[in-house]
Amino acid sequence: MIGSHLSVAGGMHLAVAEALRLGLECVQVFTKNQQQWRVPALGQGAIEAWRGAVRDAGWQGVSPPRLVSHASYLINLASPDAGLRAKSIELMGEELRRCEVLGIPLLVFHPGAYTTSTRADGHARLADACAQLLTDAQARSGRTVLCLENVVGAGTTIGGTFDELAAVREMILTRLGSTGQGPQVGFCIDTCHAYAAGFDCASPEASLATIETMLSTLGRGNVRCLHVNDSLTPLGSRRDRHAPIGEGTIGLAGFAPWMTHEGLAGLMRIMETPKGRVGGEKSDGEDFDAINARRLRSLLGWRAGEVPPSAAVSGDFGPRMLAGAGLAKGTPKAKPSGATSRRKIAPGGRAKTTVAKVTAPKATKKTAPKGDAAKPRRAR
Ligand SMILES: [Zn+2]
Ligand SMILES: [Zn+2]
Repeated sequence: MIGSHLSVAGGMHLAVAEALRLGLECVQVFTKNQQQWRVPALGQGAIEAWRGAVRDAGWQGVSPPRLVSHASYLINLASPDAGLRAKSIELMGEELRRCEVLGIPLLVFHPGAYTTSTRADGHARLADACAQLLTDAQARSGRTVLCLENVVGAGTTIGGTFDELAAVREMILTRLGSTGQGPQVGFCIDTCHAYAAGFDCASPEASLATIETMLSTLGRGNVRCLHVNDSLTPLGSRRDRHAPIGEGTIGLAGFAPWMTHEGLAGLMRIMETPKGRVGGEKSDGEDFDAINARRLRSLLGWRAGEVPPSAAVSGDFGPRMLAGAGLAKGTPKAKPSGATSRRKIAPGGRAKTTVAKVTAPKATKKTAPKGDAAKPRRAR
């Protein structure tokens, strides 16, 4: 199932309508402004409108789920700062309650950072907080799953490796004891984050190996959601910059196993790629989300050992967007069948893909206007 993180500007229910308009099968939303601690109450009207839209889409209470919420970036459950951690737990509790009232079965969040303390202390604080949140949820029969998301592993952040994520989950389960809430602790895995953290995804073979490691470390069934994003930065760069599918350092072929691996069957594949439209926001050009989704869909028939279809991966987004994202238009990212490809990471630079037997057309535009749709930005 392919979906996208969509805006809730103008009303949460509009994200569901937008997903349907884009031909998507699932959606991720923020249930509140992700950059603010202040939480205005969710009005009854907003709740009803959301429920109605979800029901009309046929996405209510379905299994596997088609709705996921992403928690605020402000939250740091691992913080050694008592005040910040208390605020984080309070806000995370509110995020969970919103998911419960809206019928959103998954809540994705970043594990946080241990900052001035130690990694072990950070793990303990994170696990304590998650156990407390789930204990509170059980008292109100809340069933929403907390999904720890992998991160690029920069600085003191927690969750840059599958081993660390698995260890934190075990610590949460130990604290929960025999409450039976183990299934409410899961994972959301982001391809861009995994790649930037050093897990190779830039070819079908590399992604297969990464997925096998991921599933055996995290446990099949515990990975509840995927974020499918290409990366602007090289393998192991520890920098979190999302690129359109097939336009980054991962490349289209690398996504094939993420779409078809049987251990990931039925999972939501949420795109958090740059938004916009070919020709600019106000044009009637194709939505970038629709282009990205089409590229991912082109991989659905792929089987291990096969060469993935080399769908047209250059040009669709238009030169402004690609140039604005720092992506040289005309550089082939997909490996045509039979071509040998080697990726090199230039010191301090971006990964370079050299593809044999292909002559890249010269980029027609060297400079592009800054801003608007041409600029990659976080999904809001
Ligand atoms: Zn993500
Ligand atoms: Zn990211």
